[in-house]
Amino acid sequence: MFSFQSKWRYFFMFLGIQLVVMALLSREGYQKRVNYFIRIFRKPKHSSNNSSIILGVDVYTNLSHLSKPPRHREDMPYCPLKSPLIAGPIHVNFPSGLSLAEVQRKNPLVVRGGRYRPPDCEGRHRTAIIIPHRHREHHLKFLLYYLHPFLQRQQLAYGIYVIHQAGNYTFNRAKLMNVGFREAMKEEDWDCLFFHDVDLIPEDDRNTYICDSNPKHAAIAMDKFGYKLPYKMYFGGVSALSPEHYLKMNGFPNNYWGWGGEDDDIGIRVSLAGMYITGPR
Ligand code: BGC
Repeated sequence: MFSFQSKWRYFFMFLGIQLVVMALLSREGYQKRVNYFIRIFRKPKHSSNNSSIILGVDVYTNLSHLSKPPRHREDMPYCPLKSPLIAGPIHVNFPSGLSLAEVQRKNPLVVRGGRYRPPDCEGRHRTAIIIPHRHREHHLKFLLYYLHPFLQRQQLAYGIYVIHQAGNYTFNRAKLMNVGFREAMKEEDWDCLFFHDVDLIPEDDRNTYICDSNPKHAAIAMDKFGYKLPYKMYFGGVSALSPEHYLKMNGFPNNYWGWGGEDDDIGIRVSLAGMYITGPR
């Protein structure tokens, strides 16, 4: 028979276990939500701003008050550990008639070469985005429309590199990413590189484009796969490596011509180099 006191003890133990389980489950859910990506279809379905239901914030919200950099960057404080511009879920649609000139107009602080530094503080992280590209100008336009303000919300110092494969020979995504790494590192000592499919748009600005201590898979939940991994070792879409990670695994394979396989190979190279893929799996 239980005494009144021990009944309460068991009750609180039970409650405590429930709370821990709920916290773990919601953390997993949180990480998934944050890592949501939407894939642009081959021919993006256009929607006008006023016809769609608005879920999440407009990605350009709160960015307009950022002004041109003052003269002395040396005196600038570091940006806060958590950007005050982060808003969470972003409303993604595909405005008709969008042009690159419009993307440029909406992002007045981005300078030549797709480069940006926060105007009012020193960015704590320097991230290069590498986008392998060919014949996807339509997708690129939408990606740039969302990615520039997305990265500015995170107060990153960043550069976007579109690595275009010339000619009509079979596409080679991993080789283009190798070229991107080399070209980006020639320009600046980036501390993180995001290898990014041209047709994937991040849906939540809490998915910070910075590196982890091991290679990170950022696109763990995309609409195309019902917002979950298609298989456990999937490493496609968007992945983040520091220059040290990249060099440790001797870069990416050059021999995957045409669609598929290269991301699986890259995942295997990560393990063979004694590292692991971060992100909930
Ligand atoms: C391919 C990968 C691809 C994945 C998801 C796999 O069969 O090898 O390259 O990313 O399917 O589409």
